[in-house]
Amino acid sequence: MFDTLSDRLNKVFTGLRGKGRLSPADIDATAREIRIALLEADVALPVVRQFIAAVKERATGEEVSKALNPAQQVIKIVNEELIQILGGETRRLQFAKTGPTVIMLAGLQGAGKTTLAGKLARFLKDQGHAPVLVAADLQRPNAVNQLQVVGERAGVAVYAPQPGNGVGDPVAVAKDSIEFALRAQHDMVIVDTAGRLGIDADMMRQAADIRDAVQPQEILFVVDAMVGQDAVNTAEAFQSGVGFTGVVLTKLDGDARGGAALSVRSVTGQPIMFASNGEKLEDFDVFHPDRMASRILG
Ligand code: GDP
Repeated sequence: MFDTLSDRLNKVFTGLRGKGRLSPADIDATAREIRIALLEADVALPVVRQFIAAVKERATGEEVSKALNPAQQVIKIVNEELIQILGGETRRLQFAKTGPTVIMLAGLQGAGKTTLAGKLARFLKDQGHAPVLVAADLQRPNAVNQLQVVGERAGVAVYAPQPGNGVGDPVAVAKDSIEFALRAQHDMVIVDTAGRLGIDADMMRQAADIRDAVQPQEILFVVDAMVGQDAVNTAEAFQSGVGFTGVVLTKLDGDARGGAALSVRSVTGQPIMFASNGEKLEDFDVFHPDRMASRILG
């Protein structure tokens, strides 16, 4: 994962080894190389600019420690700035004070929402919760069935439209699912919503209607990391159309560059909360900015 970025950054650091102290020209050259590495990783330009400005300022500034050599200092600064743009602290789920906690999933078709729904449900079940998955994606003919398969695999209940119970109306299904959760003593409700292949006003309206009907504690924007910084445009559209409280990066296993992961937090201001890195239920984890930064730096 992110091998090219790791290699490039490590080359920059290797080039600094053996230097007694960094001149302003060294800092400029280092900043330039880091900039190229980030641009090649497909990180959004405003994020690259912010990152480079912070690294230059800190490498030039007073905080430079005498205990570390220049290469170590630059590694330390880059590590801390990577953690920063990845979100700093790990952000945990927020739970409802009373009644079931509702988590709504939003994102484009194919982003990995349904797969993620199963992973998240399994994760929560393993933590002692009793989640129910809600099939509010009635757009794709096979979506309800797919969620049922996912639910079965994860060993969790699925609430799906039935005759007389909101067939064709995802907002009604989502709303009724809360009643169902209360009755059946599910403490967590995960609502899978319909995506489209691209940004679409109807999709946004439907997601916003579902949001208003279920009043979720969390709206997770699910995005395919392989699209790179395009994730940023989609995120911005979802942010203004629906709003979200956290991001889930999917398909990190196929993302060689890292642009989405490194851009989406800074651009949207919302934390990356989970990461999905494969098709199996267990290919999923809470997102830890510090661990991701360490992996990038090797
Ligand atoms: P949805 O349309 O947003 O519900 O997306 P799906 O959950 O149906 O996923 C679309 C495709 O991506 C499916 O073939 C999934 O198996 C695949 N997929 C989902 N998450 C991941 C992941 O983390 N890694 C990989 N390699 N494939 C994934």
